Amino acid sequence: MKASCMSPGSPFAGGRSPSKDSTDTTDTASTACTLSSEDEALEPKQTPKTSLVFVPPQQHTNREPKNGSRMTRWYELTQWLRPKAPYRFKLVDEIPQLPTVVLDLDATVIHTLVDPSDIATAQRSDLRTIKLPGKMGLAVERPGLQQLFASLRGYNVVVYSAGGSCYVKTLVERLVEGNPFMQGKICKVLSQPDLVRYSLLSELPCDTSLKSSLLSEELPFQRYSLLSELPCFTEGVYYVKDLRKAREDGNTQKVLIVDDNENAYQIHPYMRDADFKKRYDFTMNALPVSEFIATDPKAVFDTAFVRVERVLAEIAGMDDAVAALAGSTYREEEASI
Ligand SMILES: [Mg+2]
Repeated sequence: MKASCMSPGSPFAGGRSPSKDSTDTTDTASTACTLSSEDEALEPKQTPKTSLVFVPPQQHTNREPKNGSRMTRWYELTQWLRPKAPYRFKLVDEIPQLPTVVLDLDATVIHTLVDPSDIATAQRSDLRTIKLPGKMGLAVERPGLQQLFASLRGYNVVVYSAGGSCYVKTLVERLVEGNPFMQGKICKVLSQPDLVRYSLLSELPCDTSLKSSLLSEELPFQRYSLLSELPCFTEGVYYVKDLRKAREDGNTQKVLIVDDNENAYQIHPYMRDADFKKRYDFTMNALPVSEFIATDPKAVFDTAFVRVERVLAEIAGMDDAVAALAGSTYREEEASI
């Protein structure tokens, strides 16, 4: 299993952060939750004229206590318990007859940069960029995204990222806002809480060893440090995307996944539970793409989506998308690049 780029806070083993260093991604994720769309929605347009000191919600939520303090834990808990806000765009209904294409985000559709010098480099390039709120950085789009979405007319489109849901929600909203061609296309967004956790022996139940309540979606990645004392958290725990969740009927023969990280759709080779390994092996569903690195001087010439677009057009309308993909030459082409 190759080591590839993972999303900020991505738990996939062997991956690396899309930002320059892990510290930056932690900051990114943390900011993603402190500057959520809820905060922006709550932010008053004008400060009321009153003798009392008015603290806008935006300012209030930025008052993060120092790390490690009891207040930090309390702050994290209150952030986690906040009600979920709906997406700022409309999710469309799934059409059961159509196959589903699952799109990974980080290093597949975009590369999020947080290092100022990397951001400056990307902004000078011809790559399309989207500024993310707060310290989340800059999302750089992979070339060909618009053409890819044009080829998805005959498919349900699901976003499935290994990033925390707060980061994923913000990123998808900004992508859709910045790209009108993405509007009215996405029917579901899945993120880190939708991953399957496992050890090399078996699947790990949500309510036991990993304390899934603490791993919940609204916790920014920074807060995962709270879990570092838990057994199996820092080592021995693996994750895979469950493609059954991409469709209401759970029919994975109608699901294809476009992802740069093979750990996202296949189980570790040393997994001892053969049944589990077989159940969560989605290798045949995969359209692997190379890792998109926006700071690569050749990034602007990236053509990965051209190949994806071509094969999706070829097999559109096929009832068994996985069998149709197996009959295509996509993987051979990808391997030869
Ligand atoms: Mg990825």
